[in-house]
Amino acid sequence: MSLRRALALSVGLGVVVAACFKVPYTNRKSINLVPDKLMINLSASSYGELLQAEKLTKKGEDKELLDRVGKRIAHQADRKDYAWEYSLINDDETVNAWALPGGKIAFYTGIQPILKNEAGMAFVMGHEVGHAIARHGAERMSQQLVLFGGLAGAYALLESNTKLSTEQNVAILAAAGAVAEVGLILPFSRSHESEADVIGAMYMAGAGYPPEEAVKLWGRMERKTGGAGVPAFLSTHPANNKRQEVIREWLPRAEKRYERNKLTKDTLSKRW
Ligand SMILES: [Zn+2]
Repeated sequence: MSLRRALALSVGLGVVVAACFKVPYTNRKSINLVPDKLMINLSASSYGELLQAEKLTKKGEDKELLDRVGKRIAHQADRKDYAWEYSLINDDETVNAWALPGGKIAFYTGIQPILKNEAGMAFVMGHEVGHAIARHGAERMSQQLVLFGGLAGAYALLESNTKLSTEQNVAILAAAGAVAEVGLILPFSRSHESEADVIGAMYMAGAGYPPEEAVKLWGRMERKTGGAGVPAFLSTHPANNKRQEVIREWLPRAEKRYERNKLTKDTLSKRW
């Protein structure tokens, strides 16, 4: 191997090793090519933009509870460089919550009947914070970068080694890209969902909420959606019963944490 190649290889390996990161609890190694600081700054500005189009609930009991639960869960995550923010979007039609890298969280009022109580909210909060802590956004972006790099390389090879037209080469690559999307990127998104569930259950338990409620919450979601929608292999979300299974596996560990940190107040009575 020439010195130049050896040097290039070691630099490349160095980047990958430096970019390796162990996800809490699951200990999965993830590759992250996007610097943390960049992600945090990008998401801080998109958060404002995303919320601009929404009607926000800025005060009242529900918002106060969201802030309180958010703080308790963020304390578990222990990332002092994150500027945590929790927004309540007044939209009863949307059954959703999301997180941006760096700790920017949003809940829609439409998810409240599924949360049902404070413990349910703590689990979904834990799940969203889990996405941020496991840096799933950066990982997805890294995968897209690698995929795009691969496609660009394949394009150069096709152009110089085949007699196909540029249109034909682009069509081949588009098909390859679509296959990679369904075969590689989608399953990753689904494993991200289950990973966020595990982190969410452990965080909620550490914050003093009964983790059993996480399993019940997916049961409520199942009844609400009737199990309908796209088949699990095409969806970014694993089927609700699959999610319950993964959480159940972790339940003994989460229960132990909960026993040590149990809140004395009732967090299971119905609020919504
Ligand atoms: Zn999620």
